[in-house]
Amino acid sequence: MTHPTPPRARICPACDGFASAAITLGGRDRHGHLRTITAHCPTCHGTGTAPARRTREGARA
Ligand SMILES: [Zn+2]
Repeated sequence: MTHPTPPRARICPACDGFASAAITLGGRDRHGHLRTITAHCPTCHGTGTAPARRTREGARA
């Protein structure tokens, strides 16, 4: 089983690569700015790529 173009990095399955998102809290602060927080994906910690957990090659001795 060979893939013609193997992906360089695995996309995080939890967030599909959208590792961080700005979430509006509703309302504005006293400067008139929209209040947002940035949430990072807890699975990939904001990297958008899944951590390499398995190494199939060379796993068996
Ligand atoms: Zn993620």
